[in-house]
Amino acid sequence: MEPKSGVNFKIMAEVKKIAVIAGDGIGPEVVGEAIKVLKKTEELFGYKFELEHGLFGGIAIDEKGTPLPQETLDICQRADAVLLGAVGGPKWDNNSKELRPETGLLGIRKALGLFSNIRPAVVFDCLKDASTLKPEVLEGTDLIVVRELTGGIYFGEKFRREGAGGQEAVDTCVYNVQEIERIVRQGFEIAQKRRKKLASVDKANVLETSRLWRETVNKIAPEYPDVELEHVLVDNCAMQLLRRPSSFDVIVTENMFGDILSDEAAMLTGSIGMLSSASLGEGSFGLYEPVHGSAPDIAGQGISNPIATILSVALMFQLTFGYAEAAEVIERAVKQVLDAGHRTGDIAVDKSQAIGTTAMGDLIVAAMVR
Ligand code: NAD
Repeated sequence: MEPKSGVNFKIMAEVKKIAVIAGDGIGPEVVGEAIKVLKKTEELFGYKFELEHGLFGGIAIDEKGTPLPQETLDICQRADAVLLGAVGGPKWDNNSKELRPETGLLGIRKALGLFSNIRPAVVFDCLKDASTLKPEVLEGTDLIVVRELTGGIYFGEKFRREGAGGQEAVDTCVYNVQEIERIVRQGFEIAQKRRKKLASVDKANVLETSRLWRETVNKIAPEYPDVELEHVLVDNCAMQLLRRPSSFDVIVTENMFGDILSDEAAMLTGSIGMLSSASLGEGSFGLYEPVHGSAPDIAGQGISNPIATILSVALMFQLTFGYAEAAEVIERAVKQVLDAGHRTGDIAVDKSQAIGTTAMGDLIVAAMVR
């Protein structure tokens, strides 16, 4: 039946629900700038975002007596994606485990079934000097580490026992085919949307879990013929990230290797205020957040760098909503503002020229054009 108003409903944008969880410290400051970017995207592209705000972390402990209130979880569960600021701070550092903001982080990932962590490491040319590596090595670096988040040695059985050499400690590393397959598929699919290169990282010369990992990768690789696959041993990967970072596109690996390699890759970029991340589950749902914490040392001063959170919105557009053009508009705007020489304190060489959080957000929004 034709709609009476004559409006073509097919071209009306679907409303995307985003749960917004600002958290503690600089969380609300940086999330505020990311919301401006969402609004500007609505204007430019006609998309519609419905934002629902929830309490999480220290502020939720203060107001609701728990770091992860059920109503916040409900907001996340009915959303298409979650935008998270940061949680934690000295006020709650001495609380018991269940009343610590970080406990809420583990809880939310588990409740939302998030099994992978995605961390891009992009070196902006104008910030090459901020890294400890030589600028010519970093040139063109634009990679993503896809880390398995819920299995492996961090979650295996742990115990102590008496042995011939005194007390022994045991950590077990377990992976099954299903766990490996779902994360490796994510790696292939992300590579397909990028430069179509996947490095699968393992320690197959020593570890049985790695041998199963490699077998599984090889079994599903023919389903992605457009993606060039290489297997890299984890120790070699650690070296190659420092020697030839620009040759990587997507790196997929298990939990502990990914924990270490994603921190190493992060340091290529020079500043924690620039790093976005996503945690994904089945389907397109994802939780997006800056890699940094709540930075209590600078909270409330209006000087934090909002770029990591703004780039997390770009990642949300790419991975959850499939809004590739809008993601590019954001990334281009960030680059343009940096190229023009604008810097927050954390990335400024001359600190006296640094601009504040809101000014940086406003400049990026103003630079967003189709
Ligand atoms: P942090 O990332 O908060 O801060 C480390 C340093 O980087 C600080 O000097 C800080 O001022 C600076 N920094 C971080 N983000 C910045 C930004 N956007 N702009 C400018 N400078 C920035 O790490 P931390 O100090 O180890 O932890 C502080 C609190 O955050 C702790 O309570 C910790 O548990 C929590 N934390 C939370 C998360 C999360 O919410 N996912 C992650 C890490 C740490």
